[in-house]
Amino acid sequence: MSRGTSSWILATGQAWKLYVTVAGFTGALGLLTVAFFSLTSGGRTFMAFAACGLFLGAATFVWFTASLRCPHCAAKLVWTMVSSRPHSSWVIDLAALERCPVCKARLDQAATPTP
Ligand SMILES: [Zn+2]
Repeated sequence: MSRGTSSWILATGQAWKLYVTVAGFTGALGLLTVAFFSLTSGGRTFMAFAACGLFLGAATFVWFTASLRCPHCAAKLVWTMVSSRPHSSWVIDLAALERCPVCKARLDQAATPTP
């Protein structure tokens, strides 16, 4: 893999967290879609599906925020980026990070194993 196409998220073996997050948001979106369709048939299940969808979406975001960390100092990088960048660009900035904004260590290198 050439430099520039690989993100630190891949380099540090945390790509699966992205997939879980995408799956979680897809599931949440699916539940909300089902909720809205249930409105056309009486809407008695709307609240249940909508609540499940919102809960799944929120839980996915909280988990993603808590789990994607700097391999060196374990800083919560999603949270760091969300709270310090405009919300239109934090995802791009997060993926393009070369150094941890907290400890300044290079993110595309795994943490030095302790002997
Ligand atoms: Zn760090």
